[in-house]
Amino acid sequence: MTSSFTRDDSGRLTVGGLVLEDIAAAHGTPLYVYSGDGIRADYRNFAAAVAPVNGKVHFALKANSALGVIALLAGEGAGADIVSGGELHRARAAGVPADMIVFSGVGKTAEEIGAALDAGIGQINAESAAEVEAISRVAAARDVVAPVALRVNVDVAPDTHAKISTGQRSTKFGVSTAQNEAASLYRRLAGDPHIRPAGLAVHIGSQILDLDPFARAYTALLDFGNALRGGGLPVPTLDLGGGIGVDYETGTATDFTAYGALVSRIFADSGFQLGFEPGRSIVANNGALLTRVIYLKDGDNKRFVIVDAAMNDLLRPTLYEAHHAVLPLGPAKTAEGPAAEGPADIVGPVCETGDYLAQDRMLPALAEGDGLAVMSAGAYGAVMASSYNSRPPAGEVMVLDGACHVLRRQRDIAELLAEETIPVLS
Ligand SMILES: *Cc1c(COP(=O)(O)O)cnc(C)c1O
Repeated sequence: MTSSFTRDDSGRLTVGGLVLEDIAAAHGTPLYVYSGDGIRADYRNFAAAVAPVNGKVHFALKANSALGVIALLAGEGAGADIVSGGELHRARAAGVPADMIVFSGVGKTAEEIGAALDAGIGQINAESAAEVEAISRVAAARDVVAPVALRVNVDVAPDTHAKISTGQRSTKFGVSTAQNEAASLYRRLAGDPHIRPAGLAVHIGSQILDLDPFARAYTALLDFGNALRGGGLPVPTLDLGGGIGVDYETGTATDFTAYGALVSRIFADSGFQLGFEPGRSIVANNGALLTRVIYLKDGDNKRFVIVDAAMNDLLRPTLYEAHHAVLPLGPAKTAEGPAAEGPADIVGPVCETGDYLAQDRMLPALAEGDGLAVMSAGAYGAVMASSYNSRPPAGEVMVLDGACHVLRRQRDIAELLAEETIPVLS
């Protein structure tokens, strides 16, 4: 397994045969750069790994919902896992067929459910009794039958960051399979004339590197699905969610072989249609956030590299204490002085102590204007951007088949101001 970002013979960081410094010069910084070739390859690897169980793959849009990325994956045959009405529009605008869309999330509004039914999406994953009621009402008003799967909580705690762990009973996600709660709700939805029971779903969390929690959750799901079937209920699909972790230290592409083998071992000949919702593992290591040094500053016991990207562009370090490798775009320099090699915090201009992209990193000598790449930023990066401090979020480009395509240019401040109105004050 290799990385999408490599150094050329002169030590310059490249992606898809193009030099990142050139891309930064052409499009400005801060800038998200995605490897379309890498995204396509990783999707194909995932699809191949789960091909033996003949599952449907729905890319989790919340990891990266740039239309260009969704369209690339749709062209490879991917469906979409969405979590809002907005993502429904994105999936459709990028060409994902409606019947290949799965709608997840704990708080779908009646409007969102109505829009999903009007579009004719493939499956709604309901997460509570109240939501099942709401779907039934919305479907009845339209005189249609809604395809509804039940997201269950099988109480498996993956070893990941608390803010991205969803598998325990203590989280807001899913309906517990303990004490008959999920079973009676599934029976109820199966008896509703406006609902077609579509099966069961789990998603236990994200950035899960150990396969054991998956094995436990999937086995519990299979047992529960078989129990419902034993009770005479139709359970066509088991949706296994996403959550496969990636290597943020090295940026190496994820090897899906062991995951595929695990799924084959558990579900071979089980007679269920399977669904998958990978997000991070398809895109994380195929993206980098390019930025430039504005100033160098010596602190009491460390140096600060102040760059033009910030927490409003990439929130993961601030939100999850996430680790992103930071690499110089050009060949490493060795000059002496305040910018000599040594530990540094790479920080943005936002007025928050939590505004950092990396802490205590050994970096070579840097000068003002030097380019850096914040690696593994393809997932949960641009999608979480905000305009905090009135900083328009970074633009996004994708390198595919040797060419660099603009997916979204950086908005300018005039566009941000144009969204607002000033009430007439007297
Ligand atoms: C976030 C999410 C995913 C994708 O998770 P990754 O860790 O990015 O693979 C899949 N399914 C559901 C329901 C989600 O909420």
